[in-house]
Amino acid sequence: MRKLKKRSYKTVPGEFYGTPKELWGFRSPRGAGRPADIAEIFLRANAELLGLTDDMSGLELQKVIPSLGAHHVIFQQIHFGRRVHRAYVTVHVGNDDRVYLTKNRAMPRELLPLKAEFRLGEKDLIRRARCCLSRNRRRVRVQDVEEMWFPKGARLMPACRVRLERSRPVEEWIVYVNAKTGRMLSKCDNLAAAARGRARVFEPSPVTAIGGHETLLTEKLRPRRPPSAAYKTVTLWGLAGNGYLEGKRVTTRPTGSKRRVRRTGHQFLFDSTDKGFEEVMVYHHIDSAIRYLERLGFRGRRAIFRAPVRVNVNGTRDDDSWYSPWYKLLTFGIGSIDDAEDGETIVHELGHALQDAITPDFGQSEEAAAMGEGFGDYFAASIFADAKPERYQPCVITWDGLLIGLADGLDPPCLRRVDNDWTYADFRKKDSEHNNGEIWSATLWQVRKELGGEEADRLIVESHFQLDGFTTFARGARAIIDADQNLNGGVNRTALRKIFKDREIGPV
Ligand SMILES: [Zn+2]
Repeated sequence: MRKLKKRSYKTVPGEFYGTPKELWGFRSPRGAGRPADIAEIFLRANAELLGLTDDMSGLELQKVIPSLGAHHVIFQQIHFGRRVHRAYVTVHVGNDDRVYLTKNRAMPRELLPLKAEFRLGEKDLIRRARCCLSRNRRRVRVQDVEEMWFPKGARLMPACRVRLERSRPVEEWIVYVNAKTGRMLSKCDNLAAAARGRARVFEPSPVTAIGGHETLLTEKLRPRRPPSAAYKTVTLWGLAGNGYLEGKRVTTRPTGSKRRVRRTGHQFLFDSTDKGFEEVMVYHHIDSAIRYLERLGFRGRRAIFRAPVRVNVNGTRDDDSWYSPWYKLLTFGIGSIDDAEDGETIVHELGHALQDAITPDFGQSEEAAAMGEGFGDYFAASIFADAKPERYQPCVITWDGLLIGLADGLDPPCLRRVDNDWTYADFRKKDSEHNNGEIWSATLWQVRKELGGEEADRLIVESHFQLDGFTTFARGARAIIDADQNLNGGVNRTALRKIFKDREIGPV
């Protein structure tokens, strides 16, 4: 591809950099290859005009978004391994393989700092970021810290972006601190734009909230209306602000406009018998689980879900729920006790969506399918462990699965447990992937006991990135050991190997 000839395009000049912010009004010669390749070749040919390095070393491909008539290719500028704040370059490639628009917020190469003077350590930077908030500094929790470059006029400052959350009043602050001098560069309340709401939910179930199921059933074993002690009032985060239960991480839009609830004041304080309760449950629990993954490190460029998770909250009259990898859609059923009235059913199903997002077509073999179910149960048990009385901690789905648990004679009654002592030798003696999955969930639960909740969750989620749809227990176990090697230098290797060996999973 040749570079654009002078006067063959229109341009919007930049304020500070001298390079154009936008080139438009042209159509490049037809390119060859995928849209990302065409975009890259176009940028190389016009690197000088746009102020980029010829070898594109400073740009990292972020994503390619297809629309009906074009592909929109988005690059992020990186300097000394750190993101440059808001420095995106986008190239827009028509379906005829011709580039017709580019937008450029990259800092020109001549202006890039020659040294990366990130002098202050993380602790220091967090302290300084906290000081930038006026009152109640003690209630502030640090959610995220990232070193990055911050543009000020025509200069890039070595900076640190600190995300702080406060629960009363609910605020989410993003503070940028100069990483060389410690001075504040900018701060804003992220939630001023994203709406937040209030909701009543089960966390995760009325059974665990009360600490027993007896008062929740009639003599004929029909569910009773749960008392107010069964509910918890929570903040809903990241709502889009249109009154529907949709936002940054999850949307209930596939439920259909006739069935969805809308509250313009964002107060979703329902009873479980009200229309809308299941929708609230789904929004709250999926948003919370994804925010938890973000806290573990799976955020920004390492985010697992690139778009809001789509959910139909009453998609079937059956007592069943599922995730469809084809439609990228979670569906919850309303047979018996509504599935979406149980936070653990919701997180179990989200587990399938998470695996599909990391490893497309997860669960193609018998063992992989069992690992899919086992992971879902483990993930639900792990996320809610601290919210439940101790005897319920190894039990999952205590409300949606209450009647089945009672029929099976489980104590306390629940759909499944994650603390049995089965080994790989028991595989196939069980009759379904859910039962075989209990061998895997129990193994993961043991990893959690050994390493603690957050560390175990981080390694187990990380391990999925090297798995495939036909994986086995042994490969899954090795992937967890590899994740520990990559993230912790292998400090848990001996303990992990012992767990897998005791479960006869190997070779590891
Ligand atoms: Zn499942």
